[in-house]
Amino acid sequence: MEKTIVAISTASGNGGIGIIRLSGRQTFDIIDKIFIPKNKSKDIKGYTMKYGNIVNPKNNEIIDEVLVAYFVAPKSYTTENMCEINSHGGTVVEKRILELCLENGAELAEPGEFTKRAFLNGRIDLSQAEGIIDLINSKTEMEAKESINQLEGNLSKKIKKIEQKMLDIMVNIEVTIDYPEYDVEEVTNSEALKKLNEIHNLLNELENSFNKGKIIKDGIKTVIIGKPNAGKSSLLNSLLKEDRAIVSDIAGTTRDTIEEYLNIDGIPLKLIDTAGIRDTENTIEKIGVEKSKKLVNDADLIIAIFDISGSLDEDDRKIIELIRDKKAIILLNKVDVLKNNNKMEEEIKKLNKSVIKISAKEEMGLENLYDEIKKMFELNEISSNNEILITNERHKNQIIKAKQNILDAIEIVRNNTPVDIISIYINQAMEDLGEITGVNVSENIINEIFAKFCLGK
Ligand code: GDP
Repeated sequence: MEKTIVAISTASGNGGIGIIRLSGRQTFDIIDKIFIPKNKSKDIKGYTMKYGNIVNPKNNEIIDEVLVAYFVAPKSYTTENMCEINSHGGTVVEKRILELCLENGAELAEPGEFTKRAFLNGRIDLSQAEGIIDLINSKTEMEAKESINQLEGNLSKKIKKIEQKMLDIMVNIEVTIDYPEYDVEEVTNSEALKKLNEIHNLLNELENSFNKGKIIKDGIKTVIIGKPNAGKSSLLNSLLKEDRAIVSDIAGTTRDTIEEYLNIDGIPLKLIDTAGIRDTENTIEKIGVEKSKKLVNDADLIIAIFDISGSLDEDDRKIIELIRDKKAIILLNKVDVLKNNNKMEEEIKKLNKSVIKISAKEEMGLENLYDEIKKMFELNEISSNNEILITNERHKNQIIKAKQNILDAIEIVRNNTPVDIISIYINQAMEDLGEITGVNVSENIINEIFAKFCLGK
């Protein structure tokens, strides 16, 4: 019999309430042993709660006063019988209840096991499960919104639509081959080509959406550069002050490049090498042109800062060369000291990039910077329409594979090879997409995905 699992689902530490979650066939038996409801009625209805005490059946000791929520299969998160014990939050209480469940027949859940069951039991598909992890880990509203979109199954729907188009071609080809006596319209090369191109375009669109999706998920990798005293650390400080929540120190950063994740006005910015900025001796000379080049090349966005109250010198010109062909915004800083500097502005204008005048110290002009970033990365559009974006590298790779198979099929049709050969490629493309929704996906991949979940989810 499938085991009944238990886990503490709320974050550890002291809090108002804690939730201990049970799922599996024995759920109600276990609850029966350790929970004495005030209302003794034995009937169990889904989506109801009972109030009472968790009691150790061995010695009748009251562990906590709780509310227990009941979910009757199949109407639950996992589709199995489930209970959620709402206890007082606190590590000791939660642990004791957990232990009681374990002593009375439950087994400790693995990370993500509740969601894994929801997937294996067919309530959600794999991309929806991945939407749940992303939602939990969201650092910005925009990311959360996109995760909900995925969780609601909108990506799956889009994928299924494309699969259906593939299936249509397959069916037509196969009918033509298997039942030539039927009066089915034969698939001509030009028809097949038209349909394949349509599929190719849809896949392409999805693949390209990853550019935006990645930014929403990982943030805009941003580097601030400027010669000493241009105002880099002042700008950084103003940005950090604006930040309503510095969400995380990104794991795995080396000591000499610190990354800081900012959520400014909904813009997910990942600032790179902020350690270098804080080091006031951080000149292009010192960190080395090679390293600067690498930083600049790795970035999605470069914010180059010049001191408008001075004049452009060798250091500035090196920076100008570094950013010439890059996605960059130019800040002319210290406008509180000098508003216009025609000579400098003339020269900067030649770069053909957006130029914004600010005062990092007086915090002037920062709004214009945010607006420009939103415009540059089309972030306003994301929040206003519910377009489906690929935010997951795994999904993107599957789409690329499918696209390649469709391209191979197109090539064959163009060469006037008998059209039935393309069914091999279309089939393969369908399998590629099937790995996104999890129709045909190996156990290893499934395990890898669910291992990323937290305990109790
Ligand atoms: P960094 O070397 O590029 O990091 O430059 P800092 O941010 O340390 O700034 C160098 C000096 O310029 C400091 O004395 C700052 O107070 C000053 N500074 C920076 N931004 C402004 C500004 O907008 N207006 C004025 N008046 N001074 C500024």
